[in-house]
Amino acid sequence: GATIGILGGGQLGRMLAMAAADLGYRSHIYAPEPSGPAGDVSARWTQGAWDDGAALADFARTVDVVTYEFENVPVDAVMTIVPHCPVRPGAKALEVAQDRLTEKQFARDHGALTAPFAPVDSRAALDEALAALRAPAILKTRRFGYDGKGQARLATAGDAAAAWQAIGNRPAILEGFVRFDQEFSVLVARSTDGATRPWDVPQNRHEAGILAQSTVPADGRIAEQADAAIAIATRLAAALDYVGVLAVEFFAGPDGPVFNEMAPRVHNSGHWTIEGAITSQFENHIRAVCGLPLGSTALAARRVEMRNLLGEDAADWPALLADPALHLHLYGKGAARPGRKMGHTTRLFF
Ligand code: ATP
Ligand code: MG
Ligand code: MG
Repeated sequence: GATIGILGGGQLGRMLAMAAADLGYRSHIYAPEPSGPAGDVSARWTQGAWDDGAALADFARTVDVVTYEFENVPVDAVMTIVPHCPVRPGAKALEVAQDRLTEKQFARDHGALTAPFAPVDSRAALDEALAALRAPAILKTRRFGYDGKGQARLATAGDAAAAWQAIGNRPAILEGFVRFDQEFSVLVARSTDGATRPWDVPQNRHEAGILAQSTVPADGRIAEQADAAIAIATRLAAALDYVGVLAVEFFAGPDGPVFNEMAPRVHNSGHWTIEGAITSQFENHIRAVCGLPLGSTALAARRVEMRNLLGEDAADWPALLADPALHLHLYGKGAARPGRKMGHTTRLFF
């Protein structure tokens, strides 16, 4: 059988490798760490640096296709692999999604609404941006932020100095604060022949910047805006010549869906699809990168609810199994640091 190379060894890699195994594929992980959640379920793990060209080339020679589960894989690492075997989704998606400024510009260029934004490369530039956008606003590092890390909220212009300090003098983007009641995400799979299949959009609830819960189907404004958001996500995927699952986060704003950010990979807000859809995001990602036809993304229940188990939430996991209808997923991580994603549960309603 064929072997799928996965860049990154976290829980998304673990769930991709499990879906790959169901289809008869083996997985070979490449990551800078010695081990991780994906290692338990993969045939091979290579520990290597992102800038180790020889190790990346050796890895590429052992696999038939390469994908990634981590959007901060350096573009140069992907470019090193490309001469040896296909990388799906490609370098372009990574390049655009790694930088919040490029990403928002790209979304706007393809017809999406976004929060007003301005690049901020210095303390003085922050004052200029604030004068233009006005508080309340959010200052975000352009690169490497996740789970609300690398962000500072400005209630008034007086918070500028503290915000610039908090994000550590790094290249940043200032975003005007979007007023919204609900947020949601579009997950869409795109195959090598350009066919696309979106899932029903989940309503996402965050706590302290971290995804806490995703529920399908969504109601209210999200239900009204889902088709428009799916059309945008599909357009972005086509513009990137995308292969695999693309995730795009939106706010349900008063004037339509507002693009927040995208992830060129499977996404936490799509974990409900493992039991809650005919084909999961992980299986369709594997199908897509292997050049296979996509499976149905239809709902498998009337309603589906996914909750993250963060930090100590998973400590007494056997107690969760007292509910016989609950699906439990644990990622095999060690230390339960506060806010760390240790697992998730899914509940189907019929
Ligand atoms: P993720 O873990 O999803 O990658 P992240 O660290 O990249 O998160 P964002 O998605 O940019 O961060 O922001 C986290 C949350 O903060 C959003 O889901 C939303 O609730 C809120 N938020 C972000 N930007 C804005 C904005 N411009 N206006 C209002 N709320 C915002
Ligand atoms: Mg993000
Ligand atoms: Mg986000």
